[in-house]
Amino acid sequence: MRTSEIRTRWLDYFRRHDHHIADSVSLVSPDPSILFTIAGVVPFIPYIIGTEEAPWPRAASVQKCIRTNDIENVGRTTRHGTFFQMNGNFSFGDYFKEGAIDLAWGLLTGSLDEGGYGLDGDRLWVTIWEEDDETYDIWTKKIGLDPKHIVKLTREEIFWSTGQPGPAGPCAEIHYDRGPEFGPEAVGGNVDPGGDRYLEVWNLVFDQYLRGEGAGSDYPLLGELDRKAIDTGAGLERIAYLLQGKNNMYEIDEVFPVIQRTEELTGKTYGADTEDDVKMRIIADHVRSSLMLIGDGVRPGNDGRGYVLRRLIRRAVRSVRLLGVDEVAMPALLPVSKDVMAASYPGLETDFDRISQIAYAEEEAFRRTLQSGTAIFEGAVRRLKSSGATPVLTGSDAFTLHDTYGFPIDLTLEMAEEAGVQVDADGFTALMKEQKERARADAQAKKTGHVDVQVYSELLGRKGKTQFLGYTDTATDGRVI
Ligand code: ATP
Ligand code: MG
Ligand code: MG
Ligand code: MG
Repeated sequence: MRTSEIRTRWLDYFRRHDHHIADSVSLVSPDPSILFTIAGVVPFIPYIIGTEEAPWPRAASVQKCIRTNDIENVGRTTRHGTFFQMNGNFSFGDYFKEGAIDLAWGLLTGSLDEGGYGLDGDRLWVTIWEEDDETYDIWTKKIGLDPKHIVKLTREEIFWSTGQPGPAGPCAEIHYDRGPEFGPEAVGGNVDPGGDRYLEVWNLVFDQYLRGEGAGSDYPLLGELDRKAIDTGAGLERIAYLLQGKNNMYEIDEVFPVIQRTEELTGKTYGADTEDDVKMRIIADHVRSSLMLIGDGVRPGNDGRGYVLRRLIRRAVRSVRLLGVDEVAMPALLPVSKDVMAASYPGLETDFDRISQIAYAEEEAFRRTLQSGTAIFEGAVRRLKSSGATPVLTGSDAFTLHDTYGFPIDLTLEMAEEAGVQVDADGFTALMKEQKERARADAQAKKTGHVDVQVYSELLGRKGKTQFLGYTDTATDGRVI
């Protein structure tokens, strides 16, 4: 089943169940305190915390998302994209736990003929909060899930709140067991040891309690909310990778054609070498993210969103280079990504002249950077060799190349090896660390001056159990790490 159809099925299913269908908002977050839209709930937060009245009791969407904190996972796990689409359904004081669980089960295991996804219910596992007996009973008694497939987690592990007094509550996360060939069975244990066997598909958040003051997960629950809410998120690409029988989200119909084009461009075969495969997946992911970001009005730049975009384009171009090709890459790859994404986002077709001009110009600028960086690098190597000492490029030289010339450290290392020169990687790492600490201190200063940032960084903490690195990453993190 094509990804665009999985998307349509989602929306049709929730439309049939009386949900208002909301359009995706832009990747440029509607809230100025976060750079990007990181989850389907972002445009609905005011209805959940009660600062605005929801215009409908139920809503569903397929939301475009960017998560910069997942960049290092891309290509290495089976399931993380920097760009992805989060399917969601929401209830604002309408149905609660039973309704949300019924709806999720109905869609995942519903037959293909009747608009469902046809997944085998026996392969589903669910993580819940250890004290949430109500949810345990719904899964075991109402749905009939094998109790062995329920894993109980602590409040720290599976509880949502905004980080401030207000709504809070437990989650139930649905995982798909891909089978014993992907690892040992999680008997009563952790279903997320690295995410390969048990794929997290859908997170159901139950906004149930009113919470008081306190840091982290150390706050009191003051009682039940009068108006409870449901917020869910399911990765469209993850469902697609299961339904299309693929090994990971980069091999689905909306992403793989870029890998195929990369094979043609580089003469390499996907599947032949593990590290080359990672590079091809990074290329496919980053090309798509760049396409979608430029489509939503972001332009390459030296800070904020523009810097994220710049880093994505440079990482893609560099990965092509590391696969042995020195020609321009974007003109070959970007149109392929556009062709497959246009089924769901027709605006990409009409806007492609503008989008492609921006992407191609950025690649050209990076090529010039590479040229000047190469000249500096070669000069340093000549001096080292003529000095007669052991040729070791200093950490400070590597840092200057990186910081001033946008020269990625991988590239410095690769070229040093070719030139028979070593690099003081520890010195480089120490300088990078210093720079990051300075950036973190700056970001912290900014953060405490802006109360909304707290809300959203906690939101990500809840959604992802991960830290939002958008600020530090985009401000000063290494040019192209
Ligand atoms: P994971 O633990 O796999 O990183 P998560 O717990 O961070 O996922 P949530 O914040 O719960 O994810 O987001 C809801 C859903 O969105 C997830 O269950 C998953 O299906 C999807 N999702 C999250 N991050 C990504 C990503 N980087 N790429 C693709 N899908 C994602
Ligand atoms: Mg989750
Ligand atoms: Mg998770
Ligand atoms: Mg995550």
